[in-house]
Amino acid sequence: MSQRTTRGVLERLANGVVVGGEGYVFELERRGYIKAGPYVPEVVLDFPNAVKELHREYLRAGCEVMVALTYYAHREKLKDVGRENDLEKMNRQAVRLANEVAREGDALVAGNICNTWAYDPDNAKETAKVVRAQYEEQLAWAVEEGIDFVIAETNDYLGEALIGLEVIKELKLPAMITLATVQPTQTRDGYDYVEACKILADHGADIVGLNCDRGPATMLPLIEQIRKSVSCYVAAQPVPYRTTEQASTFEALEFNGQRSFPIGLEPFLLTRFEMADFARRAQALGVNYIGICCGGAPHYVRAMAEALGRTVPASKYSPAMELHPMLGTQVDEKDQQFLSDWKD
Ligand SMILES: [Zn+2]
Repeated sequence: MSQRTTRGVLERLANGVVVGGEGYVFELERRGYIKAGPYVPEVVLDFPNAVKELHREYLRAGCEVMVALTYYAHREKLKDVGRENDLEKMNRQAVRLANEVAREGDALVAGNICNTWAYDPDNAKETAKVVRAQYEEQLAWAVEEGIDFVIAETNDYLGEALIGLEVIKELKLPAMITLATVQPTQTRDGYDYVEACKILADHGADIVGLNCDRGPATMLPLIEQIRKSVSCYVAAQPVPYRTTEQASTFEALEFNGQRSFPIGLEPFLLTRFEMADFARRAQALGVNYIGICCGGAPHYVRAMAEALGRTVPASKYSPAMELHPMLGTQVDEKDQQFLSDWKD
């Protein structure tokens, strides 16, 4: 097991906001390394340098956590693409790649488990065994390769999230458990999202919150309620898309009468200024772990980190519009106006 020397996630959270950043699967799909549809991270074995480069870009952008790309690297999903024999190799390699890049800076490594599609609340006893076995094997490999904490994310069911939490606690690691919010107000097993977070906190989760599905506009109101109802740390990792009251998740967005999810979402992309504004608002609400999910990319993370008052390695190349040959100093006022519009 590789021992890490950097401060742990709980220590960092006690001192202030931790900047996270995900969306590896969407970004590597855009770059041609992951197949949309199955979304299995074969890239970890087939193009490890592509994964490392994206980790590095996030690190330079101010992301403090390298999340091992094991999303969907579990038995059920790998069967879909005929690679179940690569399961252990893929999981171990993903954690190794995250570690290699984390050491280039001062970043943490998070093991990652997610919704399995194997859990069925109507057959909870039997399916819980399958889910538990998947989490146990994934996290055993991750612990051997070296992780600082675990993010169990995109949980559709509170029941499944609780299994993840139990397995993480048995490993005596800090647990960050975040829910998917595909449905309007409740998990798929019928728990109000706020109540579900409270239950997770009561069961010992160190960090609870939401990831994926919602853009800042529709995630922040829920996060505000969650913040008020728990005393543990809270995480918010929205998608950078323009969700609305009518289409509160990115699965619901339509462009020209066509469903946009998951590979036609570009018309709804938020600007970096809007994601910076999200980071400021989240911080003002008392959110402790601020990140981004599917659709995320390094320029967003840099804008968010800078909005939180940080100078990060990639800040060296942050915009300097006063030096633009065409726009020059004229852009300053407009930029300022644009920024302040989004702050209101
Ligand atoms: Zn996502």
